[in-house]
Amino acid sequence: MAEQRKSGYCKNCKKDVIVFRPGTNHILHLLISIVTMGVWLIPWFLHSIKIGGWRCQTCGSKSVNSIK
Ligand SMILES: [Zn+2]
Repeated sequence: MAEQRKSGYCKNCKKDVIVFRPGTNHILHLLISIVTMGVWLIPWFLHSIKIGGWRCQTCGSKSVNSIK
């Protein structure tokens, strides 16, 4: 699983930092969704919210604004 990184603003550090989040294997989830006729979209969605949060690389805080 490749980690995603980009720049963002950490409210805890009060400065621009590198933020990261664990990568999700979306192709695998897509295949499961097709096999389960869309039922898997729900756990995929919930999973994405749970682990999809960006974190500050400096302090590990989740209080970050990621710039898209
Ligand atoms: Zn921070």
